[in-house]
Amino acid sequence: MSGGEAPTGETPTGEAPTGEAPTGETPTAGVTVRVPDRLYDGYIFDLDGTIYLGSDLLPGARRLVEALRQLGKRVVFLSNNPTRDVRMYAEKLESMGLPTPEEEIVTTVFTTTQWILQNAPDAVVYPLAEEPLVRALTDAGITISDDPRRIDIVIASYDRNLTWKKLQIAFEAIWFHNRAKLIATNPDRFCPFPGGRGEVDAGPVIAALESATGRPLDVNCGKPSPVMLNTILAAIGIPVERCVTTGDRLYTEIRMGNESGMDTALVLTGETTVEMLAEAPRTDRPRWVLDRIDGLLPPEYQRRLGWAEE
Ligand SMILES: [Mg+2]
Repeated sequence: MSGGEAPTGETPTGEAPTGEAPTGETPTAGVTVRVPDRLYDGYIFDLDGTIYLGSDLLPGARRLVEALRQLGKRVVFLSNNPTRDVRMYAEKLESMGLPTPEEEIVTTVFTTTQWILQNAPDAVVYPLAEEPLVRALTDAGITISDDPRRIDIVIASYDRNLTWKKLQIAFEAIWFHNRAKLIATNPDRFCPFPGGRGEVDAGPVIAALESATGRPLDVNCGKPSPVMLNTILAAIGIPVERCVTTGDRLYTEIRMGNESGMDTALVLTGETTVEMLAEAPRTDRPRWVLDRIDGLLPPEYQRRLGWAEE
């Protein structure tokens, strides 16, 4: 397909416009908006800054997601936060007017558990983690132990019940017994709170263990690691070239999508400014740039739905 053409049918061709194709370009506040000219089969979305901001859906989010579901597309919402149950996200989306089944929501609890099942199903693990991850590991039949002589994998996570004793057990398993790998649910330094505040997240737990043991993290199961997307692709069974990942951060969702070989869409309703986009390194440049999330639906489909009038 070349730039500016409307999609020719509902079946994605798997072909992509080459390079910086001027597809649907409109200059907006000094930045070039590039909207997709094709439908994908799988749509993976960041939540905060992409679908909602605070406690409100962003403009166009509801009609986009409803249209994609109507077209039979697979929709997945992503969160790096391993302390929240997917039910909490489902309730939040419903309260904002976007009812969402729990199966459409993926957190690092899922990606971490799946990574272990796929890569080390017999491993004995020690999670420095809260209830949702511990429960998911147990439900998946993964063995948990706090005996450093038996631990194969230490999981560093967002753990508000972290103690010196937990760090010591992890340290002995990795360093003294020289047997455990260190993996993490997510690398975030802190979890942002309203009003510019935040709470210590999993990043400092990783840093403490890296510092104590002198060994680097082996695997990160959250954004921006492609492990997160690859785990989701394996679960939904859609090839990477038929999916697109959309988010508001260049160094998380966009980088992760690029590293996975997936098409990416940046939406300018969250963290990234036009200036940040202009200065982004090549690894963090999105395929598509949207000023509103519903720009993700190709123009032809928007016209069919009568969106232009809104
Ligand atoms: Mg975001």
